[in-house]
Amino acid sequence: MSVIGIDFGNESCYIAVAKAGGIETITNDYSLRATPSCVAFTGKNRTLGVAAKNQQVTNMKNTICGFKHLLGRKFRDPVVQNELNSIPYRVEERPDGSIGICANYMDEDQSFTPEQITAMLFTKLKIDATDALKTQIYDCVITVPSYFTNAQRKALLDAAGIAGLNCLRLMNETTATALGYGFYKQDLPAPEEKPRNVIFVDFGHSAIQVSACAFNKGKLKMLASASDLVGGRDVDSMLANHFSNEFVTKYKVDPRTNKKAYLRLLTEVEKLKKQMSANSTKLPLSIECFMNDTDVHSSIQRSDMEEICTSLFQRIEACMKRCLKDSKLTLEDIHAVEIVGGSSRIPAVKHLIEQIFGKTPSTQLNQDEAVSRGGALQCAVLSPAVRVKDFNIVDIQPFTVMLSFDNENGQRTEMEVFPANHASPFSRLLTMYRRDPFAIKLYYADPAPCIDPFIGEWQIKDVKPSATGEAQEVKVKVRINHNGLLLVASAQMVEKKDVQEAEQNGNETESTQQQQQSSTPQSPNEQPSNPDSQNTTASSGTEPMDTTPPSNNEDDKKKKKSSNKIVELTINARTHGYSQHEFDKYFELEGKMISNDRQEKERVDARNALEEFVYEYRGKLQEGGNLFEYIDDPSREEICRQLDDVENWLYEDGDSCEREIYRNRLGELNKKIDPIKARHDEYEGQQQAFNDLGHAI
Ligand code: ATP
Ligand code: MG
Repeated sequence: MSVIGIDFGNESCYIAVAKAGGIETITNDYSLRATPSCVAFTGKNRTLGVAAKNQQVTNMKNTICGFKHLLGRKFRDPVVQNELNSIPYRVEERPDGSIGICANYMDEDQSFTPEQITAMLFTKLKIDATDALKTQIYDCVITVPSYFTNAQRKALLDAAGIAGLNCLRLMNETTATALGYGFYKQDLPAPEEKPRNVIFVDFGHSAIQVSACAFNKGKLKMLASASDLVGGRDVDSMLANHFSNEFVTKYKVDPRTNKKAYLRLLTEVEKLKKQMSANSTKLPLSIECFMNDTDVHSSIQRSDMEEICTSLFQRIEACMKRCLKDSKLTLEDIHAVEIVGGSSRIPAVKHLIEQIFGKTPSTQLNQDEAVSRGGALQCAVLSPAVRVKDFNIVDIQPFTVMLSFDNENGQRTEMEVFPANHASPFSRLLTMYRRDPFAIKLYYADPAPCIDPFIGEWQIKDVKPSATGEAQEVKVKVRINHNGLLLVASAQMVEKKDVQEAEQNGNETESTQQQQQSSTPQSPNEQPSNPDSQNTTASSGTEPMDTTPPSNNEDDKKKKKSSNKIVELTINARTHGYSQHEFDKYFELEGKMISNDRQEKERVDARNALEEFVYEYRGKLQEGGNLFEYIDDPSREEICRQLDDVENWLYEDGDSCEREIYRNRLGELNKKIDPIKARHDEYEGQQQAFNDLGHAI
């Protein structure tokens, strides 16, 4: 079994595989390393990846690209509304506020969820990886932007599941890059030494992410991360806008009014942008028969582009400065700035890095593949299928997370449960005193990265007062898990019983454990406990959670053991992500589409095989062909007429038949041709034997 890392980019995906000899990038069915994040629909099947991108201009409404930021968001989300400006396909709001992506598939107007579309792309990646590695692909690590919220992460996990992938971990993209950087370094400082601090800048298609990371031998710790939804595509659209304005005055055509023309312009300006990264001289732009049969011409140079995109570069600058500030590093503390992502090739971005971090950006890593390679390494570390050394990662969760609950008097208590840039994974233990079941809510603090700050609500069931009617101690574990997901992981009620009672009820079935003590209070809401008030205390520790060393006093242990009964409480969660029922439905649908694609491919292959047969044997039977002499004239005419008939049929009634019909036709033709081939082979064989004999003599 192979372990892979998937970099799910807004523009393209990369897959890397961890092998005994190191990490390799997998090429797709077009022998390319990048697979466009693109899914297209036709009347008969889906087209995925490179093939989908190649037919975009002729099938714009049914070609779905740039959907990474639709995942886990509501239709009304301002980010989604902004995306809609550049999306050439139709997106609808569903009754529950979620997103439906519309396309004509199997000659029907259909609506798909962003999770389904992403799953289709993952299906393609899985097929390519399976073909390349000649083994089943199941386990993977998928990389996500560090700014992805719970809703986005859950949506991505659902998408992976629908595609039949077992995502061992969602890994933050810059953390994956950092792992790829640190894993093979032999000269990292020893654990007790001052760490080596490296800044990673990933400037891609749709976003910039900047992270600060501290390395020691065998471990890395993320210090801070900042991001902004500004990417290479924004440079393209600013340039396209610039040329559109020019064409309005110069040629009286506005590409923004015609989606096809605008897409063509975008393709051209992207090419220009890439040339400008390597070239500071004036470069021409020429598009023939652009709009209204008009040829358009213009030119641009790097300094013009930098001026046009000033506002974008300002945002990038602010993002880098935010990361530097949050990391609390001085410029002297920084060992290097590593750049990855396609857009980091833009010289203005490199200049900004030099200005802000005082270092020439370094390109030790493969700029396009670093993220997927780090993902594959992480997958290898996690999977028993591959043996690699361990590498300890302490990541961060970039948002401030709040927790709220109502006390028994109905008063709301709100507290910050995780500040921004908190270590991840991590658990916090909260102690509350309650008599009845209650609910806990988690949400992102303002200013939230998304319009919907809701993370989830957890109903803590089975809480009841003690025998004497008093509130009981409830311990709630709030967690940032390995996927960067926030959740209430468990809740326990500590039923206090005096020793006598415990002795009488010696045959308790529920587990009895030593009570964990809370550490220092963390906020005004977390005053030390008074069993009669509904206060909250908190303790924190890295995973797995075990913050308080067990007492060494055996007598004390015995006493406590027998005096407390820990009851695991049932928790009902309401969070993002599909219910089992929804998941099963989409999983089944994807399975049907996969089998339909396979059938369609087999059908098309059978048709092509028949067509090729006709061309091949018509040529061979004609004068000059190698079968010409092995058949008499009337029979040849008869077979050639049949071949012509099949050809005509293929272009008319036989254009879209079932696979079996093509196969049967091919079988019939083969029956006619086989005796001729046999005569040819026999004669050739005799000739060969005769020649061999001649040589021998
Ligand atoms: P994201 O990280 O936002 O999800 P992604 O991972 O798909 O997107 P990348 O593959 O890192 O994005 O980068 C693609 C972007 O890089 C495109 O906008 C492309 O135009 C840009 N790009 C690639 N090469 C160059 C270059 N030489 N100069 C400028 N920009 C470039
Ligand atoms: Mg990327």
